Amino acid sequence: MSELLSMAHIRAGYGESTVLQDLSITVREGEVVCMIGANGAGKTTTTRVLTGLLPAWAGHLTFAGERIDHVPAHRRVDMGIALAPEGRQVFPNLTVHENLLLGSYSPSARRHRARTLAEVFEIFPKLEDRLTQKAGLMSGGEQQMLAIGRALMARPRLLVLDEPSLGLAPKIIVDVYQAVVKTAKQGVSILFVEQNVHAALSIAHRGYVLANGQITLEGTAAELRGSRMVQESFLAPRRTRRDPVAGESDQREPGGAHVDNA
Ligand code: ATP
Repeated sequence: MSELLSMAHIRAGYGESTVLQDLSITVREGEVVCMIGANGAGKTTTTRVLTGLLPAWAGHLTFAGERIDHVPAHRRVDMGIALAPEGRQVFPNLTVHENLLLGSYSPSARRHRARTLAEVFEIFPKLEDRLTQKAGLMSGGEQQMLAIGRALMARPRLLVLDEPSLGLAPKIIVDVYQAVVKTAKQGVSILFVEQNVHAALSIAHRGYVLANGQITLEGTAAELRGSRMVQESFLAPRRTRRDPVAGESDQREPGGAHVDNA
């Protein structure tokens, strides 16, 4: 598998605060790669630097053999990098159809609109049923499917997903993840960031663990699942304080969805 994306020694942040420090990751053609980490680790910041929404202060980015450090965000979409952002960010007052068309704004994607739309409906049949519905009236899971569908309308070579399971029930996470697997099988490489580590490792080929803006561990999904650090930090059942009167509950936190990437 040849290398599609390389982010090498990236430093980036906001104002005077450095968030990413010497961050290096790669995605090869056809790979599904996850980046896991706690709140505030820098996952979303990584997607912003990769898509050109935030400049890298140091380091370099290469996509499909070309340096893209100074390529603006809209050109990166044209080159084949599309993002389904955290929180979906669908346009609530536009219909499903209008939201999807916005994803194929670039001239190259626009030429293939009809064909791409049909491909997106194959992955997300529900979107075809809801074409004239206002996006804001859809459920969280349907909005997530729309956000991914909109990104696919750009005909990306690399699909970047920021927390696709956020706020979704386990059953819906399985649906969304099955769609991601289907997308990968159609030849789209995927980089996704997640807090739902169990679900993420069930579909990823490889993954990175991010903490305080640095990669602290990388490996195949099986290696990460077997890592004591990953097990203790992310996979062990947590005791959650549900009821201040009754004390701690020993219920497992939600989000234990599992999808097979067979
Ligand atoms: P989460 O899962 O909570 O979104 P994350 O791993 O995606 O976490 P980031 O959103 O990348 O983390 O945030 C990393 C750090 O950057 C945090 O300390 C956050 O407060 C800070 N940060 C994020 N966005 C901005 C911004 N627009 N301006 C200033 N600081 C920011």
